[in-house]
Amino acid sequence: MAEYIESLQRLAEEFGRLEGVGKKTAMRMAFSVLELEQEDAEAFASAILEARRRIHLCPVCQNLTDRDICPICADPDRDHGLICVVTDARAVMAMEKVREFRGVYHVLHGLISPINGVTPEQLKIRELLARVESGEVQEIIVATNPTVEGEATAMYLSRLLRPLGVRVTRLAYGVPVGADLEYADEVTLFRALEGRRDV
Ligand SMILES: [Zn+2]
Repeated sequence: MAEYIESLQRLAEEFGRLEGVGKKTAMRMAFSVLELEQEDAEAFASAILEARRRIHLCPVCQNLTDRDICPICADPDRDHGLICVVTDARAVMAMEKVREFRGVYHVLHGLISPINGVTPEQLKIRELLARVESGEVQEIIVATNPTVEGEATAMYLSRLLRPLGVRVTRLAYGVPVGADLEYADEVTLFRALEGRRDV
């Protein structure tokens, strides 16, 4: 019956655009919106617009931010000579749970994957190279997942960056193979960080 209510149908279609939201869930979400007070619905809509409008990539680390330069890159107390390279913005959040990590980040926005047609040029590798060439960087910790793509990307970065005189390391295998960094707990991540090895 929902098919006949045009604006409800349209709302469900919009929710269906979101990653991981199937048709049924999208329709349930659309119905939930109708239960909101008018002003709450307006706040919800404007939160979407504002986030989309204000959030962009930090020009230094390529992480998401709503400031000119993200708070991590702007923090003088962090070690800007130690860069942890991660696949996406969610991995930064996971790494930040390990409070002992006092370095900074670089977000690649993907992994090298010849099968899926993802080449190094499509990732934020050029930007990483520029940071290394600026001379301040001493160590790069590659924290990509231990998958085929994650390993291939780590090897590529090692070959690219080591000749420039920086140490390139990889998280130890305390992180279970195939596990998403996002779901690794604090202690596991801390051990993986402590036990990192050169690649
Ligand atoms: Zn940044």
